Amino acid sequence: MQYALTLYLSQSHPRIFLGNTVKFRFMAQKLEDFFSRTQRRRFLTSPNLNHLVVCIVIIGLHILGMVSGRFERMENIFLDYFFSKRPALHAHPDLAVIEIDEESLRTIGPWPWPRHYHEQMIRILKTWQARAVVFDFGFPETAEDRGGPLPAESIFQKKDNVYLPVELETKTGKKFYVHDLPIVLEPDGEKKAWVHSNPDLEKNARAVGHAHLDSDSDGLLRKVKPYLSEKGETYPYLALPVAFDYLKEELPGPMSLSLPLDAQGNLRIHWLGKWLATFEHYSYADLVRSAQAFERGAAPVISPENIKGKICLIGITAPDLSTPQATPVESAYPAAGVHATVISNLINHQLLIPASLEANTFFLGVIGFIASLLFVMSHNVRSFIFGLMLGGAWTLASFVLFWKKGIWIYTAQPLALILSLFIFSAIYSLLLSGREQSRLFDLATRDGLTGLYVIRHFREILNHLVSEAQRRKRTLCLILIDLDHFKRINDTHGHPAGDIVLKHSAGIIRACLRTGRGIHEADFVARYGGEEFIVVLRNSSLKEAAFKIAERIRKAVEKGVFEWENKIIPVTVSLGVSSLHAAENFPDPMVRRADEALYRAKKTGRNRVCVETVAGSSA
Ligand code: GH3
Ligand code: MG
Ligand code: MG
Repeated sequence: MQYALTLYLSQSHPRIFLGNTVKFRFMAQKLEDFFSRTQRRRFLTSPNLNHLVVCIVIIGLHILGMVSGRFERMENIFLDYFFSKRPALHAHPDLAVIEIDEESLRTIGPWPWPRHYHEQMIRILKTWQARAVVFDFGFPETAEDRGGPLPAESIFQKKDNVYLPVELETKTGKKFYVHDLPIVLEPDGEKKAWVHSNPDLEKNARAVGHAHLDSDSDGLLRKVKPYLSEKGETYPYLALPVAFDYLKEELPGPMSLSLPLDAQGNLRIHWLGKWLATFEHYSYADLVRSAQAFERGAAPVISPENIKGKICLIGITAPDLSTPQATPVESAYPAAGVHATVISNLINHQLLIPASLEANTFFLGVIGFIASLLFVMSHNVRSFIFGLMLGGAWTLASFVLFWKKGIWIYTAQPLALILSLFIFSAIYSLLLSGREQSRLFDLATRDGLTGLYVIRHFREILNHLVSEAQRRKRTLCLILIDLDHFKRINDTHGHPAGDIVLKHSAGIIRACLRTGRGIHEADFVARYGGEEFIVVLRNSSLKEAAFKIAERIRKAVEKGVFEWENKIIPVTVSLGVSSLHAAENFPDPMVRRADEALYRAKKTGRNRVCVETVAGSSA
């Protein structure tokens, strides 16, 4: 009672009646109701259980999909979006990038530059007390270098912290030329080899690391391989020795690296923001100019203070020479910027920490289960709102976790799971409500004992058929059927026997009609009253209705075997037949004429068919 009252209040006058206390009591009541045994029992009905079981199967399929790693692309899209929405981060202050930009090439000369230029740069940076010099490119051997001396060993001493890169490149197959036609002996792209700076230089460098960058299949760069091996040579990613030296820690080998790697063993790049906005940038030419000015005693463009104690990463950014990377933060991001970003990530302890597969699986399962419960308990608009709220809350939580803690937890797959569960639940509840609707329709339109239409519904059909017949100038006939001496059957054998006779008769009548045909040709039959039935026949002449169908019914009932407690009950029916007359727009006169005909059939001895008297004829 109280629940009914609260429901009434909440539905009809929520604003007028719901004061805070009432609202609170309301919710408490609802909660109590929810956890009550009846509610629990109601929840555990078989459609709900079926619904829940299918939801759990869907969750299982999503988990399998996630474990297969096939949907990581969706996750990347979300992570990229998070990077674009999070405010830019600052690079570590001890990091400076020296760019070989367009201006440097214009001032110093076309690329490649002879090695002694780089020697000079190392010398400047050393004099200005840079902490480390990291080259983003191998030293090409120019015509000027050929046969000349290598850079002085004093410049390239390990203690001076000069770092050099190597590149793992794909070598194309060997080509032989026979009569000027190339013949490829090995397929293209099969061989991989390291492209080194001069090995003698590498010997003297502080560390050599690979500068290999591998984009994802969608063309975006998101990760670096911490170690690369090929043909017995293994190199750490260039940023690793630089960062570990800065942190004064021993660089662990590939097997003992304790960095947070993703499922494929890659180090995810924690992008800071747009290239120009995040790092301290100096032009190579400006640095040379500043050094010269400083030697002359003039004011330098770049003060030595800007370089002191810093890791200086020298990279090529001139558009014609470099191959910029497409990244989630910028479509053309210089490779030097990628290395600088990872160095900053490592020395700032600002790494992107991918959640483990177990954690992602656990969260996917939990979210799927919560969504399933919500969708089983609520339907349509409400479950849509719940799904939206759950998905929104998860997206927000994973974004906050990413932003504040650098933890990358799957977002797209939980959202996809909520969506799949919602779609399934919506279809399921539509099917259920369709079934429920047809059950209610049958309940409202069919008679419980015989399964025939009830007269109220039959009237609707009849009205419709009458107007259709008039519109299309078609014939329409009616048969009224009444069981003979039915009271006697009831009195002799009892009411239950009477019920069986009624039910059986209804079945016989239905079997004599064209109810199985297309809806536009079908005949309709209803229970007219206690032991009376009414039939409407479409496209039948009065003769056909009377002598074919009505007679068929009469004979079928007469021949029918009605057995009750091992006794055969003889059953017969009387029938009255009428037809729709030309000017009649409603069925009542036709029904009345059939009733009169039936009356005559009863009067004239029962178990017979009588036809309406139009010109005084009868059958
Ligand atoms: P007549 O040949 O003149 O039609 O005789 P009758 O006995 O069939 O006459 P009447 O129409 O007066 O009797 C109908 C009886 O049908 C009365 C009622 O008790 C019985 N009846 C009506 N509905 C049901 C029902 O659903 N089940 C059963 N068992 N009997 C019913
Ligand atoms: Mg009767
Ligand atoms: Mg009767």
